[in-house]
Amino acid sequence: MNGIGPTIGNPHPGYGLRVRKDGNRGLAVADADCPCGRFSKAAQGDVEVESLVIGYGRHRRDECPIPAIRAAAARQYAALQQSLNKRRRK
Ligand SMILES: [Zn+2]
Repeated sequence: MNGIGPTIGNPHPGYGLRVRKDGNRGLAVADADCPCGRFSKAAQGDVEVESLVIGYGRHRRDECPIPAIRAAAARQYAALQQSLNKRRRK
């Protein structure tokens, strides 16, 4: 597998989502921090990392108290939906 999910835009250095595969064993590890401080998690393993990525996306879009974060997440989500729809239509 080639990189789980995109690196989600990061307007505030030091925050954001980081996903990587750990060396030889190919173990997926990720951590995510939201500038609002309400979402700060780490995960290990494909399933856990995926749910972290999804949870972080949901937090930014729906739960984050920072309007700029929600607006950016909504834009990213719309773009993602669009590209998924395009792929489905082919
Ligand atoms: Zn937040």
